[in-house]
Amino acid sequence: MRITAIAGGVGGARFVRGLRHHLDTTGLEDAEVTVVANTGDDITLHGLRVCPDVDTLLYTLGGGVEESQGWGRAQETHHVQEELAAYGAQPQWFSLGDRDVGTHVVRTHWLSRGLTPSEVTARLAQRWGLPDRRIRLLPMTDTPVETHVVVDDGEGGERAIHFQEWWVRHQAALEARRFVVAGLDRASAAPGVLDAVRQADVVLLPPSNPVVSIGIVLGVPGVRDALRGTRAPVVGVSPLISGRPVRGHADACLRAVGVASTAAGVGGLFADFLDGWLVDPGDAGTSVRGVRVEAFDEPLLMTDVEAAGRIAGRALALARSVGG
Ligand code: GDP
Ligand code: CA
Repeated sequence: MRITAIAGGVGGARFVRGLRHHLDTTGLEDAEVTVVANTGDDITLHGLRVCPDVDTLLYTLGGGVEESQGWGRAQETHHVQEELAAYGAQPQWFSLGDRDVGTHVVRTHWLSRGLTPSEVTARLAQRWGLPDRRIRLLPMTDTPVETHVVVDDGEGGERAIHFQEWWVRHQAALEARRFVVAGLDRASAAPGVLDAVRQADVVLLPPSNPVVSIGIVLGVPGVRDALRGTRAPVVGVSPLISGRPVRGHADACLRAVGVASTAAGVGGLFADFLDGWLVDPGDAGTSVRGVRVEAFDEPLLMTDVEAAGRIAGRALALARSVGG
């Protein structure tokens, strides 16, 4: 069985980890999981290329993540950041941990030697043991793209800031007028991405941010068409519970694109290619045109690997029921 998931950072990584756990404990060890990761969050800091969603996937799936926050390295220290601060290096609002810096140094070095982001990601994934666990991690594109957020400039006009500045520095508290993804219209899907969607047996949308994670991947030319055209059932898991994001600021992102912060609103964003939509029991009344909506029988919370595994198992069952 070939399963393809389209993922952002924390929600995507926890879901895929649960999916792998489910497969490995139900006799489906041979299933291959391909993860297509959002790279719109990528940013260059202090000369280093940082790919937050790819890194969260690497660390979570490789067993090196700081569980309490869901991203970054476990047992992290911050000596490098202290030195950067002592030199007055900007920005200071994005803190890089010491172990994490190792990833960014290696990535930046390999990119400078001419490797593509796909090649670099494959090498990083090797270190974290992903291929051995039958997980293939693909960046959505090898073209540099960066999500920007258009906000009020306070003088009656507007300005665009990098997504990370909006998310991390301002905690998404500045009203977003819209998102602009620099480079996306000219980007092409990374090698393997479109085939992973077209040739999958099941496509899953984890509970990732529907606008700035999954929405960005859908904007890569060809991806949305591949999803509409695939013969595989496409099943999504709602990132909202009773209208609220479990973590992060998905509601602020949905507001910016004029979509209701509800399981129905988010499902509607994907209705042109979605077959099944798994929602929290509290959202059991949700309906999305042309989509089979099912409520999970416990809270839709990935509290640990087992819980995430049960959610993933249910998403696969839903895929079987709509697909065959
Ligand atoms: P980010 O890139 O680190 O922001 O992570 P993602 O885009 O992958 O996921 C963020 C989304 O995951 C948010 O909208 C959350 O509401 C959602 N999310 C995180 N944990 C859970 C969970 O346990 N259950 C559900 N249903 N959604 C979750
Ligand atoms: Ca992200």
